[in-house]
Amino acid sequence: MKSRAHYLSSMSRAQITALPDKASAPVLVTTGAIEQHGAHLPLAVDALMGQVWITRILEALPGDVSCYVAPPITIGKSNEHVGFPGTLTISKETLRLQLHAIARQLSAWGFRQLAVLNTHGGNTSVLVYTLREIEGAYGMRVTLLKHGVTLNPALPTQEATYGFHAGELETSWLLAVAPQWVRMESAVCEYPARLEDAGELRPEAAPATFAWASQDVSASGVMGDATAGTAEKGGRWIEQIAAGYAARIVELANGGRRRIS
Ligand SMILES: [Zn+2]
Repeated sequence: MKSRAHYLSSMSRAQITALPDKASAPVLVTTGAIEQHGAHLPLAVDALMGQVWITRILEALPGDVSCYVAPPITIGKSNEHVGFPGTLTISKETLRLQLHAIARQLSAWGFRQLAVLNTHGGNTSVLVYTLREIEGAYGMRVTLLKHGVTLNPALPTQEATYGFHAGELETSWLLAVAPQWVRMESAVCEYPARLEDAGELRPEAAPATFAWASQDVSASGVMGDATAGTAEKGGRWIEQIAAGYAARIVELANGGRRRIS
């Protein structure tokens, strides 16, 4: 089976040693979260979506493109959600050190490209400074992957701006890939801010933002319109986003990120 050949954990140590393309092939690592996603979605949304993206990316990649998959980081920095039961969190320092440990070993085995696919917004600020450290420390080229696609159908502007947790997008994704874990009868629409609100201070997407915790801006833990989620939209968006990620990986595998020297 084609995709088995990509997972580093499925290989023996001799196979790792013998891989011919370690200097050029990117190694993907997903960073997720285990955290509350409202009453209607499971805690594992972000960790699960990391697996979904990897599976779909491997299906979408041309056969002659090499990339490898490292074991995932499934628990992330979710201190903004600890006010609700079910959330697990690691500290920013633990996340940083886990990434350093993975990169240090990959580098020691001969890999030279790390690509991080992050599925949880709370990890992003840590990733930005940690990936810069890793690039300097181990001589690896490090990329924080973005899919870069315009969704079709597009999200409504209100949802695209303030639907950033357990809303239409994540609910649709889960309805497409794990409907048995979705309780649509418990889905709600709750926004932490509206486009037409007066003032400039909002939790996200505003000239002035504050450091929010989810229980301060949402009674339900949902930030977005979960009731608008459908499996049909989720399936289309997953296909589009996976194709976007796969295109970025093809660029990386082909040396698309060049250095001046
Ligand atoms: Zn999420």
